Amino acid sequence: MQDGGMTSRTVALRTTAFVFGTSQRIAHSLSQRTMGRPGEGSVIRSNALPEDVARGNRASLVRGALLDPGKAVLAGQVCGGAVGIISEPHAGAGFREGLPPIEGFDGMVTKTPGIGLVCYSADCPLIGYVDESVPAVGIAHASWRGTMEGIAGNTGQAVLSLSAGRRPLLRVSFAPHIGPCCYEVKQDLIDAVRAKWPNSEAWFVKKGEFTFFDLYQSNRDIMVAAGIPVASIGARPRCSKCAPGLYWSWRAQKEAAGRFGAVIGIRP
Ligand SMILES: [Zn+2]
Repeated sequence: MQDGGMTSRTVALRTTAFVFGTSQRIAHSLSQRTMGRPGEGSVIRSNALPEDVARGNRASLVRGALLDPGKAVLAGQVCGGAVGIISEPHAGAGFREGLPPIEGFDGMVTKTPGIGLVCYSADCPLIGYVDESVPAVGIAHASWRGTMEGIAGNTGQAVLSLSAGRRPLLRVSFAPHIGPCCYEVKQDLIDAVRAKWPNSEAWFVKKGEFTFFDLYQSNRDIMVAAGIPVASIGARPRCSKCAPGLYWSWRAQKEAAGRFGAVIGIRP
């Protein structure tokens, strides 16, 4: 596995969080598929899971990072490339009753202490960002469509934009997501990727007649193309579909899949 030179020594032990090796000021946590919890811990409503229960699971995720759920912010997620800069007026969106998530964004960044930024997934990469020079934090949900729109690089650039005038100390970490071991794709996706990113051959893994897409390598390369230092990008995480008891996997569970979530914030 490739490692951008950061704290790979902790990868094996810390599968439930981003891997940053940062200061105590940065709070982050990743939820798992938790049997015995309502909706097995899914943080997003479904036909089988009412919104108030899902909101309670989101609140547990945020509390687990020692942040206040009443100040957390949930991304609406549309599988695009847009990034929102989040501050105090957004606090509670998607967490307090009557306040909907921040619509239209798959990436969020903030330098406001106390605000937890939350994205959710079943197989898609969730990517965490920290710039300790501010400090500032960010999170991205990189579906294959969002990957094509450059969400990973856009979010990294947005974090760096908050460090104006300082020498940035950026760290980027991927949460578990579906790997090239399991993410088989069809010709329409292959054609769409090649049309937008001509130098994308390394993102595809061929096994016999089947083709698999590498969401880690593609997002990593896209970040580097966007000016994110390669040394700041962390190692490849484990595959969500290979661990369906731990992580929700759309490919493993289909319509029955819930969503796990990640939160990142600056401690108040
Ligand atoms: Zn796998």
